[in-house]
Amino acid sequence: MTYPGTGDGNCRGVARFPTGVKAIRVDRLGGPEVLQLADVPEPVPGPGEALVRQSACGVNFIDVYFRTGLYKRPLPFIDGREGVGVVAAVGDGVTSVKPGDRVAYAQTPNMGGYAEANAVPARELVHVPDGIDDRDACAAMLQGMTAHYLASDTFPLRPGHVALVHAAAGGVGSTLVQLAKARGATVIATVGTPEKAELARGFGADHVIVYAQQDFAEATRALVGEHGVDVAYDSVGKDTWERSLSLLRQRGMLVVYGNSSGPVPPIEPQKLAGAGSVFLTRPTLVDYIRTPEELAARAGAVFEAMRSGALHIRVGATYPLAAAADAHRDLEARKTTGKILLIP
Ligand code: NDP
Repeated sequence: MTYPGTGDGNCRGVARFPTGVKAIRVDRLGGPEVLQLADVPEPVPGPGEALVRQSACGVNFIDVYFRTGLYKRPLPFIDGREGVGVVAAVGDGVTSVKPGDRVAYAQTPNMGGYAEANAVPARELVHVPDGIDDRDACAAMLQGMTAHYLASDTFPLRPGHVALVHAAAGGVGSTLVQLAKARGATVIATVGTPEKAELARGFGADHVIVYAQQDFAEATRALVGEHGVDVAYDSVGKDTWERSLSLLRQRGMLVVYGNSSGPVPPIEPQKLAGAGSVFLTRPTLVDYIRTPEELAARAGAVFEAMRSGALHIRVGATYPLAAAADAHRDLEARKTTGKILLIP
């Protein structure tokens, strides 16, 4: 992307005298307070890019990691990597979308998501089908596609499998519970509070453990006995991974896909032998949406599940764009459920 007046503005649909847009810029790493509202020039889409005027911006835990510096990025940057809106202009060579199209994206490495407008590589955009409103579409992208690849590709669930899903009232967790159930698995869910337990039951979990009140390993063992669980989907990381590992059946799989409580330390391969020749993977969404075709297929599967009623994406809270810091505070304080959105 380029900014007005810096050249390379050879694109269709952009205003001749572009205006500024509001965005949440991070000038230094730190707590939620470093998320500052700023006026920035509207980006001009470069070759292969489209300018999206956004109606909603997704908040994801990964945005916290970039804000704190756990994941690296040169400063300053506009946080956020997920959004939905209408294409306002396209750069050279773009044929897959055109001005006026309703589109959504997730996990764009350029970031820039917490803003009224973002220039996004066109290959990362998907069309939003009729019948799905903007907010639901945004909510379905990053967390929905993550839950989808976890349940259908990382460990393809089928009837008879027992899956342990941590943080089951959260964005990914609430979707993963539903998709795991739809594939016929038995789901043991963990959550932080009794209120979240109610939600997890509503998403279809067979057993719910409030892991803030009881040891989830003991409670899970009481349910599955010696057999263990076939797969543990662990997004909490530091506080849970070791007990998750201990609950696997022989040749089961530990899927560590997040660090909500902090990163998992290095693991000796021998530990996997001792746990029953188990598998450990640390997957990330970008490797499961490698091509525009794979992205379109995965997003399409999530949208279709929503349209058919098989999947309900819960938007737990919306915040004005300017209140991005509050959204991060609530997310990190474990106060949120489902998806949280910023509204420009
Ligand atoms: P969530 O909505 O799940 O929010 C995080 C939840 O984690 C909290 O609500 C809380 O639920 C639980 N949690 C447990 N311990 C802590 C802690 N110490 N601090 C904060 N939260 C804690 O967030 P997302 O759905 O956005 O993301 C979930 C996880 O999935 C994140 O770790 C994220 O990085 C990861 N992720 C990974 C992807 C991948 O491809 N690898 C893609 C998308 C997300 P409770 O109170 O119930 O314990």
